[in-house]
Amino acid sequence: MAKTGVRVAITLACTECKRRNYQTMKSKRNTPDRVEFSKYCRWCGRHTPHRETR
Ligand SMILES: [Zn+2]
Repeated sequence: MAKTGVRVAITLACTECKRRNYQTMKSKRNTPDRVEFSKYCRWCGRHTPHRETR
C-alpha cells in the first residue's frame, strides 16, 4: 500500500476567468509544487492554463 497523504485532491481553476472547472487527484511526491495544466474552459470557449487552487 502507498503511504497515505501522497495522493491529494486538487481543484483546477482557469487562470483567465478564474472559474473552477476541474477536480482531480495528484501525487504530492511527483508534483510537490502547484501544478498547471492546459485544459478546455467552457466559459472561455478555448484551452487556457488551469492552475491548482485550494
Ligand atoms: Zn476560463
